[in-house]
Amino acid sequence: MDKLIDIAKEAIEAIDKRIKKEDKNKFGIEIEIGADGTPTLYIDKVAEEIALDIIGKEANILSEEIGYIDNGKEYIIVLDPIDGTRNAFHGIPFYGISIAIGRKNIEDIEYGIVKNIPTGDVYEAFKDDGAFLNGKRIEVSKDYSDIIYCLTLGESGNEKTWKLVELHTIRAMGAAALEMCLVASGAIHAYFMPKESLRVTDFAAGCLIVREAGGEVYNANGEILNVPLNLNIRSSVLAVASNEILKKLIGGVK
Ligand SMILES: [Mg+2]
Repeated sequence: MDKLIDIAKEAIEAIDKRIKKEDKNKFGIEIEIGADGTPTLYIDKVAEEIALDIIGKEANILSEEIGYIDNGKEYIIVLDPIDGTRNAFHGIPFYGISIAIGRKNIEDIEYGIVKNIPTGDVYEAFKDDGAFLNGKRIEVSKDYSDIIYCLTLGESGNEKTWKLVELHTIRAMGAAALEMCLVASGAIHAYFMPKESLRVTDFAAGCLIVREAGGEVYNANGEILNVPLNLNIRSSVLAVASNEILKKLIGGVK
């Protein structure tokens, strides 16, 4: 496991370095159709290729563009080479890289790491051993004096998030893994994607980071989020700092 964690960190740093060097005007060029049936953009492809080179055959790989690579290993490295691709190619400085290491399901993820490329912040979690931001332990917010929710709105949202916009303070940031990390670090109190549109590559690392920081992650039906590590599955995601926040959100939706 330690070796795989080192590989994940090495991949993150290599992608980060390369993306910073790249011509940002090329980020949005469509290269091909990915395993998920959506166009693969230049930035996603470059980032994925770097990670695949570094991971090699040390683990099985589940990645956003290439799909599943079975190397006959015990562990799967779940990779979102760029979280928040649209932000990256429009020059909105909120995008990152997300890597998780597990076996079969979201619940058996043992390690997760998410790096915010523009700020350099690194969020990490080790199963049963806590969540960290730049090496310092983090916990979800228990201070409800200024509640902030990150909601998915516009065409990516639906009536469940639209109904919440008048409650508390709202942000919509466009990078699921990083938004989940903001719940974990106590910056915000919830992240909600109401549609079944996110894949395990988007939320595998974020789920562990939120849970290890003392929060919980549900789907839009209020069920604890746990799905197999399979790219064909799409899910809604509701990451919350506490049960109290979950109740406020569900009360606001009804
Ligand atoms: Mg992505």
